[in-house]
Amino acid sequence: MANYLDHSIEFLKGVGPARAELLKKELGLVTYGDLLTYFPFRYEDRTKFYRINQLQDGMPLVQVAARITGIQLMGQRYKQRLVARATDATGTLELVWFKGIHWVHKQLKPGVDYVIFGKPSRYGRKMTMAHPEIEVATAAHSEARFLQPVYTTTETLKRKYLDSKALVKIMQGLVKAAPAHIEENLPAALRQELNLMPAAEACRQIHFPEDYRQLDLARFRLKFEELFYIQLQLLKLKEGRAARFHGRVFKDTALLTRFYNEHLPFELTGAQKRVIKEIYHDMKSGTQMNRLLQGDVGSGKTIVAFICMLLPIGEGAQATLMAPTEILARQHYQGLKPFAAAMGLKIALLTGSTKTSERKALHTALEAGALHILVGTHALLEETVKFNHLGLAIVDEQHRFGVAQRSKLWRKNKDVYPHVLVMTATPIPRTLAMTLYGDLDISVIDELPAGRKPIKTIHRYDANRLKVNAFLKQEIAKGRQVYIVYPLIEESEKSDLKDLMDGYESVCRAFPEYHVSIVHGKMKPEAKQFEMQRFVQGETQIMVATTVIEVGVDVPNASVMVIENAERFGLAQLHQLRGRVGRGADQSYCVLMSSFKLSADARTRLETMVRTNNGFEIADTDLKLRGPGDLMGTRQSGILDLKIADLGKDGHILQVAREKAREILAADPELQLPENALLKRKLAGLMAGSTMWRNIS
Ligand code: ADP
Ligand code: MG
Repeated sequence: MANYLDHSIEFLKGVGPARAELLKKELGLVTYGDLLTYFPFRYEDRTKFYRINQLQDGMPLVQVAARITGIQLMGQRYKQRLVARATDATGTLELVWFKGIHWVHKQLKPGVDYVIFGKPSRYGRKMTMAHPEIEVATAAHSEARFLQPVYTTTETLKRKYLDSKALVKIMQGLVKAAPAHIEENLPAALRQELNLMPAAEACRQIHFPEDYRQLDLARFRLKFEELFYIQLQLLKLKEGRAARFHGRVFKDTALLTRFYNEHLPFELTGAQKRVIKEIYHDMKSGTQMNRLLQGDVGSGKTIVAFICMLLPIGEGAQATLMAPTEILARQHYQGLKPFAAAMGLKIALLTGSTKTSERKALHTALEAGALHILVGTHALLEETVKFNHLGLAIVDEQHRFGVAQRSKLWRKNKDVYPHVLVMTATPIPRTLAMTLYGDLDISVIDELPAGRKPIKTIHRYDANRLKVNAFLKQEIAKGRQVYIVYPLIEESEKSDLKDLMDGYESVCRAFPEYHVSIVHGKMKPEAKQFEMQRFVQGETQIMVATTVIEVGVDVPNASVMVIENAERFGLAQLHQLRGRVGRGADQSYCVLMSSFKLSADARTRLETMVRTNNGFEIADTDLKLRGPGDLMGTRQSGILDLKIADLGKDGHILQVAREKAREILAADPELQLPENALLKRKLAGLMAGSTMWRNIS
């Protein structure tokens, strides 16, 4: 066997073939290396003994040394329980068992000293512990003060006696032998500079920490290592691509100048100007652009997209914009059309519902180069859609597309890859962006157009519905329109649909003098389109809908967004929904409706929405609440399967890791220096086995 860490855990003391099979099936643990990186999820504090009179209600798990002074079975049959009294010099503690009481009864001996470990709680005037762990006190107890690791296991494993304790035993054997075989994989200079614990020591301390300080150092070292290697891979990937893929050079800015001088409808914000400069710089550079453009809802991405298209079009190439849904594609098309018309450019829309006859003409014009801009859904990825020369591909809402689809866009050109701009309205916290899109350059529009009134957000309980309705009437009387949105979550689709229909009926009853539209996902596309149009044209004043309106509706006159059962929405979704209003000059409102009963997380979400309109702040809170796994469909991305680092909490470590990776690669791009040999070796191994290349390139 080449490497000690590749040995099968089957050969470890206390494992064997049957348990090895179980551990593989339940936890994916196959090799020594897997087991060593199966880190404890918490530790029990065995570093200190408490006296009974120091115990308080609400303390975490604590350890007490005391003598059992009485044992008693109480209650009848099903309500039977075992109560034992434990006493030290300072007081008495009551221990209670409701399950397995006969077994415990047999073990306990009055007059014997025990080490008792559990969670104290006050019961009337007594201090009690339910189901404590209890062992006869030995000399070893008073000497060994330690943090006891706790490992996650599954119900199946527990039934086969592979609980955390059993894993601790197996781990103890392995961690004794393994450190001698663990190679350091961070250069000495780097470890010195950042005070990073050696790899072998970190392995020992993370499983069986001597004390909290050693645990902290071990954690820091392992988190750093994990994040550092991700960053090193991403930067390598980015660099490799820049070297490999040439981009066509576009530098003729004549069209841009004409648009600026003759057709610019408003002064661009500073942020818009800055990102346009960054994008132009890329397209002039000679290497293929791969850039992520982030901008909150309403930050003005459409005109930025258009201005970017002018550069390739000015040199006879074409541009395309791909959106995830038909509604969104249509809206982009509507948004770009006036600009294109002003500049005398040909633009077309291609979606699944484009008629065959139209398609033919469109294909011909596209291949001949007579069509400058093609907007569409994934329909434009079909083989039959051929560009004359695609200069710039813009992809909106990246996370809704598979990466495979993005790469199909790349291949739309035979000679040279088009420049690629990925646009997203979902603000991504910096830490996450650096990991998810670390291979892309990032531009951010972090400023809203001037003069826009911030949306006022309020939270109201269902009990105050009459007051909310009165407010809505007042706004409608001023000529405004109102959205009322209901959640529709797949698992509970049926009852959600009923909620929506009930809601629709009560809205109709509460607003007899107004017209109400209704739109939901179960409607036929034509019916949906028809209802939307009625609202867009102002024939209806209220739109009752499910989250289908989350993307794609732009009605500047709609200035109130009511979100029903707001506690059921995630923060990102609430923010997107709120972005549907605030598009006109009027004061806009977002009303979050909920019941009184709110979980702590739900309350934080609603409070965050009320406090701020800043998408990045919201995304940060979201990341902290939910962790990155759930965010923005990143669950499938694979690269977020972090073993120890947590992107929600370890942003500062990530920052340092990225900085260091960058410094090292800048000084030694091919990692040829002797001090970087171990980086090179580990990186090669990672890249060979990594899914990262496939996932994000
Ligand atoms: P996004 O797509 O980023 O959500 P849009 O491009 O749809 O935002 O722009 C939102 C609204 O703001 C549009 O009505 C647009 O015309 C307007 N807008 C964009 N940029 C500016 C600007 N610099 N000044 C004033 N209004 C702007
Ligand atoms: Mg937009």
